[in-house]
Amino acid sequence: LLMAYEPAKRLSRMRVTIESKMVGVRIMFELLDQPETISEAENATTLPPGPGKMEMRNLGFAYAKDKRVLRDVNLTFEPGKTTALVGPSGAGKSTVLNLAMRLYDPTEGNVLIDGQDIRDVTFDSLRARMSFVGQGTFLFSTSVMENIRVSRPDATDEEVYEAARAAHAHEFIAKLDEGYETQVGENGTFLSGGQRQRLSIARAFLRRAEILLLDEATSALDADSEALIKDALREVTKDVTTIVIAHRLSTVLEADRIYVMEDGRVVEFGTARELLDHGGVFKRLFDQQFGGSGGMQGVQ
Ligand code: ATP
Repeated sequence: LLMAYEPAKRLSRMRVTIESKMVGVRIMFELLDQPETISEAENATTLPPGPGKMEMRNLGFAYAKDKRVLRDVNLTFEPGKTTALVGPSGAGKSTVLNLAMRLYDPTEGNVLIDGQDIRDVTFDSLRARMSFVGQGTFLFSTSVMENIRVSRPDATDEEVYEAARAAHAHEFIAKLDEGYETQVGENGTFLSGGQRQRLSIARAFLRRAEILLLDEATSALDADSEALIKDALREVTKDVTTIVIAHRLSTVLEADRIYVMEDGRVVEFGTARELLDHGGVFKRLFDQQFGGSGGMQGVQ
């Protein structure tokens, strides 16, 4: 039961890479090592508190020499708003999140938070401003309680319950044999995908960070689970800067702004309504993914 003892400390010595789909994005990144490629500036300052506006200016990026993955990308993520990234596989959406978390530095251009280049600030102060909810919820061999608490180790039990309630996780946790003290088996195999994801959302609630990065689940969830997750996400994204890689129609339709990416570039942006009227790449993707004009009902 070594893991139950100060999981955060132990984790800080581990390098955990989430399923290959997540290429380089590490869940609970605040507890994990940086990739060796990135280092903190010698005179790094603390990122001061602020509304959490994130801007990406003229970004260019390549993971490997001569293979550009992003070209001249300009994105603005407004506080309190949900901004969706959509586009075909390989368009560069996850790479945008990787750069937002400073898992890599851009080859060209800048990532700014409240006007400050994130290369100039300490990792701790940068990561303290963000939470990440990915597709694979990484669970540790400890209790449900500690699995939620990893996102803010000093949280009280009461705060953990509150986060779990907000994430619609409390009910299923209460029904487990030992409630919050139930030990999560090897990577939570006895929990369903939807339950695991709600634990991940509970972690994000607990952190109360201004910037939320979200990679929506692509795999099918049962209808109940999906409805609960949708509600939970609506709560957790309220009042924070949300950047979501959107795979679901409801998310796309509700986003304040959508950026459409293709081959490492932003090719269109606007609301769902504007982009559908425009009849370009988004319209084509929308029809392919969401089944044509039937899906347009409910578009504002
Ligand atoms: P998907 O919807 O399939 O997740 P995406 O739009 O998120 O795709 P990215 O994952 O950002 O796209 O990938 C953009 C390009 O960068 C792809 O060509 C991909 O193969 C490449 N790539 C992604 N991660 C790495 C990595 N860690 N090392 C090298 N190349 C990578």
